[in-house]
Amino acid sequence: SNIKHPSAPSLMMNSHFASVGEEASKEAYEHGIQVIDGDKLFNEHLSTYLNIEKVIPAGFNYHLISVFGSQSTGKSTLLNYLFGTQFGVMSEQERRQTTKGIWMSKNKREGGGSGMAENILVMDVEGTDGRERGEDQDFERKSALFALATSEVLIVNIWEHQVGLYQGANMGLLKTVFEVNLQLFVKDSRTIPRSLLFFVIRDHLGTTPLKNLQNTLLQDLSKLWSTISKPTGLDNSRIEDYFDFAFVALPHKILQPEKFEAEVQKLGTRFREGYNDPKKSGLLDEADLPIFLPQYHRRIPADGFAVYAEGVWDQIVNNKDLDLPTQQELLAQFRCDEISREVLIAFDEVITPLEEKQAEDARMGKPALLPDLGPAMNTARGKIFQDFETNASRYHKGVYTRKRAELESKVDSRLKALSQKQLSAAHKSGVETFSNAVSAAVKGGQKKGASYDFAQIVETEKGKALSKFEADAQAIAIEGASWSSYTQELKLYQKDLDEVSSRLRKEEMRRLATRVERWVRSRLDESVGLEFNKLGSGRGGSGAPEHGERPPSEKDLWDRVWNIFTDTVSDAEKRFTDRAQSFDASPEEVEVGLWRLRRKSWAVLRAKIDEEVMEGNILLKLRENFEDKFRYDESGVPRIWRPTDDIEGLYTKARESTITLIPLLSRFKLSKTASPPPLDAWIGNAPPSVSPADEEDLTPIGGVDEDEGKSLEEEMTILSDAKQADLLVRFKKTADGVYVEAKRSAIGGMTQ
Ligand code: GDP
Ligand code: MG
Repeated sequence: SNIKHPSAPSLMMNSHFASVGEEASKEAYEHGIQVIDGDKLFNEHLSTYLNIEKVIPAGFNYHLISVFGSQSTGKSTLLNYLFGTQFGVMSEQERRQTTKGIWMSKNKREGGGSGMAENILVMDVEGTDGRERGEDQDFERKSALFALATSEVLIVNIWEHQVGLYQGANMGLLKTVFEVNLQLFVKDSRTIPRSLLFFVIRDHLGTTPLKNLQNTLLQDLSKLWSTISKPTGLDNSRIEDYFDFAFVALPHKILQPEKFEAEVQKLGTRFREGYNDPKKSGLLDEADLPIFLPQYHRRIPADGFAVYAEGVWDQIVNNKDLDLPTQQELLAQFRCDEISREVLIAFDEVITPLEEKQAEDARMGKPALLPDLGPAMNTARGKIFQDFETNASRYHKGVYTRKRAELESKVDSRLKALSQKQLSAAHKSGVETFSNAVSAAVKGGQKKGASYDFAQIVETEKGKALSKFEADAQAIAIEGASWSSYTQELKLYQKDLDEVSSRLRKEEMRRLATRVERWVRSRLDESVGLEFNKLGSGRGGSGAPEHGERPPSEKDLWDRVWNIFTDTVSDAEKRFTDRAQSFDASPEEVEVGLWRLRRKSWAVLRAKIDEEVMEGNILLKLRENFEDKFRYDESGVPRIWRPTDDIEGLYTKARESTITLIPLLSRFKLSKTASPPPLDAWIGNAPPSVSPADEEDLTPIGGVDEDEGKSLEEEMTILSDAKQADLLVRFKKTADGVYVEAKRSAIGGMTQ
């Protein structure tokens, strides 16, 4: 053939082989294929031939027969009759030697009631009688080695008249066969395959019964066996330990053509499969016993045969030690690698686009869940291992197991990467969804104005988030893959949800704190405002002023303010704590919240006080206080000034009384201790769990935040000395105005 084909068999080739090329090649291989040529070269197209003959996918369902025998003993003729092959036959007229070498052809009589096994490959070994032709026995020996390494059945073709001629050429050939057999198969006694030596006795006249010829041959073979040198330990081995024998006799083809053809056809039916029968091993002497017994099969898968045969021949031709187990391992490695590559093609078709999609999503920073990833991975994984097993498990078990593990780790590491990226996408989107859902639910609750249950919202949304993640993870679980567990990822996810929850809870705490502070502010606005308003009434709450004494309402202004303040904050603390606990805030978080609340409340109070003592406000209050004392009598009745009244005396008394308010107002002091309230102790130390973020928006407080360099005294200073002096001057002016007015009205009243 001039057509070049790849020499290695391929699964893909089997299904994709172009029909045009096939037709052309079929013609090219009409006479079979010359596996080994006269120059001892191996034909690199053997796999092409096996592919054309559809033997490649046969697995172990094929058989190999080799035919040996002297030149021109009708070997090729017999094969062509038996199997419908077209091996070269020496023409009756020319009687020229046909080409030396080993030819192979597939049985053409398969099926159609022939009773023959499928996929019988026949090797016609030419030129195995170098001895007769005076040539060296090199080719004979090499051919015998090759045939024994590959074939289940060796047909030995001899003339009837050669039987019993112990010195004949056939015995030389058989001696070679026995020797190479020992060389090949004795090394590893566990893997000894038996071979069938099938003697076909030609030109049987019928005068000597087959049984007699058979016995003569067996005796000669035993004699021959005893003469060959055996490896130590095998001195007593018998020929039957390695070979089974069968015999058949055929009539003369030229003299009895019809009988010859009938016998050949009968012989053809023996080329069928039988079962190993321990009782039957040794001699297959029944005329119609099947000859393909499982024990003869060399167990080289059909798709590896060409590579194996080439390897074997390469060892033989280079006179290397032919070690079949090693050859089989090498073949297994070669084929398993090849099969791996082939089965990965279908896997890549499914998996590579998914990997690319993930990579693209990652590049865009948008990891997304791939729909149907689980079924895709499971199907692809199941298929690749199944395909690998189907094709590769026929090869050397150890190599197959190792290569399968290699393939598994390659496949699983890719699937694992896919799974993990999917899980991390599920993680990311799950956390995001959770955070948004909680925020939205809180916002919804706030809008309705109803008191929503934050803890309940978190719990509900977390439940949803967890079951979504688990569903996503379960959807990509891989059957029978221990690495496909997501316990660890689930834990991390849970941890992140908890972190988000706690961040959301902190935000919720802040919102709560803001609400409570607002409440404190409005309460203090009102109640502290009322206390300062009371200053406008100079008669206080309990009776008339005597001897410059201040009524209790003025004297204990700060006690009342402090009490109102602490009571209000205490109320607020209780509200805060109750609510915070309802959404599972930790004791530490509550502690920090309360600490912040106290500080912020103090700032609110301080601002309120500052507002009350603002110039205009306080001056008005002092004026009201003074007027109250000056213009009303002890019983609270407004005075009608008469010129006889001691206007000046009353004025001085009222003015002095009001003036004493200024120092009182200027310091926040408790009457009992005459010192500032215990603000530092009341606020307390910053809790240990307070974070910088918690302190960020806090105003420093003198005497509490020591490093502020401001004392509690300073914090409690409401009016500075300068302000007091200024206020005094202004107040006096106002009082003076009131006095002058009173004087005028006294005179006016008189004139009227
Ligand atoms: P090979 O060299 O062993 O393959 O022998 P061939 O098949 O080429 O045949 C050699 C010659 O023997 C041819 O001329 C055949 O016609 C002849 N021949 C074939 N079969 C028989 C047979 O059964 N008996 C005899 N006497 N001659 C045969
Ligand atoms: Mg021939």
